[in-house]
Amino acid sequence: MRASQFFLSTLKEAPSEAELPSHKLMLRAGLIKRLASGLYSWMPLGYRVLKKVERIVREEMDRAGAIELLMPAVQPAELWQESGRWEFYGKELLRLKDRHEREFCVGPTHEEVITDIVRKEVRSYKQLPLNFYQVQTKFRDEVRPRFGVMRAREFIMKDAYSFHTDFDSLKATYQGMYDAYCQVFTRLGLSFRPVAADTGSIGGTGSHEFQVLADSGEDVIAYCPTSPYAANIELAEAVAPATPRPAAGAELARVSTPGVKTIADLVEFLKVDIRQTIKAVVVEGVEGEPVLLLVRGDHTLNEVKAEKLAGIKSPLTFAAPSAIEAAFGAKPGSLGPVGFTGRVVADRTVAAMADMVAGGNEDDVHLTGVNWGRDCAEPEVADLRNVVEGDASPDGQGVLALCRGIEVGHVFQLRTKYSEAMGATYLDRDGKQQVMEMGCYGIGVSRIVGAAIEQNFDERGIIFTDAMAPFTVSIVPMGYRRSEAVQAAADALYAELKAAGVDVLLDDRDERPGVLLADCELIGIPHRVVIGDRGLKEGVVEYQARRDSAATSVPLTDIAAWVQ
Ligand code: ATP
Ligand code: MG
Ligand code: MG
Ligand code: MG
Repeated sequence: MRASQFFLSTLKEAPSEAELPSHKLMLRAGLIKRLASGLYSWMPLGYRVLKKVERIVREEMDRAGAIELLMPAVQPAELWQESGRWEFYGKELLRLKDRHEREFCVGPTHEEVITDIVRKEVRSYKQLPLNFYQVQTKFRDEVRPRFGVMRAREFIMKDAYSFHTDFDSLKATYQGMYDAYCQVFTRLGLSFRPVAADTGSIGGTGSHEFQVLADSGEDVIAYCPTSPYAANIELAEAVAPATPRPAAGAELARVSTPGVKTIADLVEFLKVDIRQTIKAVVVEGVEGEPVLLLVRGDHTLNEVKAEKLAGIKSPLTFAAPSAIEAAFGAKPGSLGPVGFTGRVVADRTVAAMADMVAGGNEDDVHLTGVNWGRDCAEPEVADLRNVVEGDASPDGQGVLALCRGIEVGHVFQLRTKYSEAMGATYLDRDGKQQVMEMGCYGIGVSRIVGAAIEQNFDERGIIFTDAMAPFTVSIVPMGYRRSEAVQAAADALYAELKAAGVDVLLDDRDERPGVLLADCELIGIPHRVVIGDRGLKEGVVEYQARRDSAATSVPLTDIAAWVQ
């Protein structure tokens, strides 16, 4: 590519909204352009990077035996009602109506759609296992879109979904995808770590996240440097072992849930620390159904736990957000994904909860110290809520260290959560109908670009690995339009590298040498060849890798081989 025929648009200063180095650099290098909160255009230079990431992801998915398809971004509400997530997913789900007033959402994930396909297409055990994947635009109406493409609202995900006759088959594919993910992140040159993780709103049993290690990451990982132990502390908190039980609270009147008679029963039932995380209250709800209200704080962990609650099978149901808002006189729209936000409403809810229990004592409502973790498949994870560096590792193999990470991938053993709810069954050898086992596997393709830069930059700009770079080699002629010798040498090298299949950028723009050199460093091209009259007289050009502190003189005749 000739820079004069391409579109480079670099900035000296990053727009003030950018906080993280990667976000600043992506804007300054002209990789992305902001349209609105959480919405970014991938500019030509950035799109080249994104496509390189996508290609590696596709190659590894194909190698692992996954089959590519493409599902619609817009999904009918009915499917989400079937799985139970229409109510439960909350405000992160962008909902819309068509001209016939039918409800739809813009897919934040595709379990429902793929399960619908498979339940209609697959009849027999002979057709299983199957593993489908797509690379597609997702939409999540994030509470706080930030850090550019790292926490965007519209973003690109590779999502895969596998279907099986039995758990062993699921475990085999899960391991295959786990290995493929390691391969993807290794090929991209990232420093990463797989960690045991919570299943969040996707649900299921076991799961691992792939965390790119970076100080600016939003997640905290506890790991043992001398053993494989590593967990997102979200999970560690989520599966904290039981601490002393609360004293039994008063009777919960008007609740028909079998086995849940007291606050203590409820807490035990929910396996959640009500006081510190979610305030819960059971009331008679819409249409005579008991309703579980969850009130979350402003802590993301709370959302995760609250979301998990919805996976618990019980006669309790969630009220429509508007019904909950009405019941508590809250402002329409003030309800978060699964509960109220804001102190005033929370306090009212606690009071309402106290009213429900005989005696109406609010102290009965504030219960503490009960564990979580009904469906976690990572038994070695312990209570790390107050963990500090140097604490004993839960696996007894050493001491713990803490680091921060950016979640770039997440694999889940869904088991039968969706197949059961949506009736994805097959006929076994004996002609008996059985529910399929499922797994799902996500990679944040667009987030990877931000995460990679967060790990690799210096004061001059981005440092791309060859695998991700928009161009691997940049030819920077000193005076392309002034010196015939320089132009001839640059053109010849450009032609030779192009013919050899190298992704080469010839910066033939009519700019000062300082601008060309600074841009080349800012956009992170890994290999640079500077061609000038002085060197040419001695038959040499200057080669410098992006991480090198000085240039090396290389004979013009050798340079093409040198940079390949
Ligand atoms: P997070 O904890 O960061 O909100 P998540 O756990 O909600 O992510 P998953 O449902 O596991 O995300 O989705 C799979 C992958 O999609 C994540 O591992 C992440 O890389 C990517 N992803 C999720 N949300 C976003 C977002 N808002 N912007 C960009 N990528 C995202
Ligand atoms: Mg999320
Ligand atoms: Mg997460
Ligand atoms: Mg996740």
